[in-house]
Amino acid sequence: MKIHEYQAKQILRQAGVPVPRGIVANNPQEAAKAFAELAGPLAVVKAQIHAGGRGKGTIKTNPAQHGVQLVRSADEASQVAGRMLGQPLVTIQTGPEGQAVHQVLVEAGCDIARELYLGIVVDRAAAGPVLMVSSQGGMNIEEVAEHTPELIFREQFEPDAGLQSFQARKLAAKLGLKGASVASAEKFMKGLCRVFVNSDCSLAEINPLVVTKSGELLALDAKMTFDDNALFRHKDLAELRDLSEEEPAEVRAGKAGLSYVKLDGNIACLVNGAGLAMSTMDLILLHGGKPANFLDVGGGANVDQVTEAFRILLSDKNVKAVLVNIFGGIMRCTTIANAVLGAYKTVGFNVPLVVRLEGTEVEEGRKILATSGVNIISANGLTDAAKKVVAAAG
Ligand code: ADP
Ligand code: MG
Repeated sequence: MKIHEYQAKQILRQAGVPVPRGIVANNPQEAAKAFAELAGPLAVVKAQIHAGGRGKGTIKTNPAQHGVQLVRSADEASQVAGRMLGQPLVTIQTGPEGQAVHQVLVEAGCDIARELYLGIVVDRAAAGPVLMVSSQGGMNIEEVAEHTPELIFREQFEPDAGLQSFQARKLAAKLGLKGASVASAEKFMKGLCRVFVNSDCSLAEINPLVVTKSGELLALDAKMTFDDNALFRHKDLAELRDLSEEEPAEVRAGKAGLSYVKLDGNIACLVNGAGLAMSTMDLILLHGGKPANFLDVGGGANVDQVTEAFRILLSDKNVKAVLVNIFGGIMRCTTIANAVLGAYKTVGFNVPLVVRLEGTEVEEGRKILATSGVNIISANGLTDAAKKVVAAAG
C-alpha cells in the first residue's frame, strides 16, 4: 500500500525524523491561508499523487505548470494550487493519462546546500532491510545505479537491533558530511530505519534528503510503501489508504479476495495460484498473445468468486478472449466446472472462453463442461490452452 508524501511526513515527524513544516490544502483559499500560516518569505506548493517525478512532471491541460513549485506570496500559492487541483498531473511514473491532483501540500521553503539520496528496501538476497545512500540526491536512483553504481553505498541492518551508530557514521563519511551534520545524519538514519521496521514498510525513500545551509538534515520528499500482508496489525496505517489513487478493478478484486493486476493485453486469465498464473501469462506471450491481466483466485474457486472474477475481466474493453486455467488440487474439477458454468450464465459472456482443467476428478469435470451445451472451448494441457486462446482472440 502506498501513501501520500504529506502522510509519510506526518509519520516521520511523529517518529522524530526532521521534515519541513507543511500544511495540506484542498482548495486555493486553503493554500493561501497555509502560506500565511507558514509565515516565511518562500513556500513550495506540491501536488499530492501516488507517483514520483512531480517536479519535472506537468499538468496535462497546462504543460507550463509543474507538480512542485516555489511561491513567494499567499496570492501566488492560491494561483498555483488552483492550476494543480482537479487536474491530471503527468510524470514519468503515471503514464500518459496522468493522475488527478486532489490535494496539495504547502511546505516551508528550505535553504538547500546539498541534495542527497536515502532509501530503505527489503533485500531478498540479504534476507533483511538494507539502507542505501548516495550523494546523487534529487535524481532518478535507477539511473544512478545504472551509470554510476559506485556512488551508492549500502548498510544492511538487523530489524531488532536497528541501524548501529558506527554504520550511520560510516555512511555519513561516504557522503562527505562533516561536523554537526554527522550527528544529524546519524539521528536521521537511525530514526528512519526504526520507522521502516516498526511500520512494516516494504520501501522508504527520501529523495532528496537535504543538508540545509545550517548543516541540518531534512526529508524534503518522502515516499513510503507498506507490506499489505502486515496491514492487519497497523489499523492506523490502513486508514491512510487513498482508494482514488488505485485502479478501480484492482480495488474491487481485492474485496472479493482475488489478486488482480490489470495489464494492457487482450487475453484475460483466471487462474488459481500465483505461480500457475505467472506461467500461464508466459505461455500466452510465448504463443504470440498478450495477457490482459494477472488474476489469482486463490485456493478455493467458488461460484461467487468466479462470477465476480468474470465480471471484472469482462469489464475491460480490451479483452477479446478469456482463459480459465485451474488445477484442482484440494478443490475438485467437478466443483470448478460447475462454478465456471454458473458464473458463465450469470455474467453473460460476449467473448470466447477457453477452459483448461487438470487434477482431481478431471474427467468428470470436463464431461460437465462438454455436455452443458455452453459454448466453451476445452483445452488439454497448458500449451494447447495457450494456443487455443491466442487463436480465439486473434
Ligand atoms: P518529486 O520527487 O516528485 O519530483 P520532490 O518532493 O522531490 O518531488 O520535489 C522536487 C524538487 O523540488 C526537490 O528535488 C527540491 O529541489 C525541490 N523542493 C521540494 N520541496 C522543497 C521545499 N520544501 N523547499 C525547497 N525546495 C523544495
Ligand atoms: Mg523526490
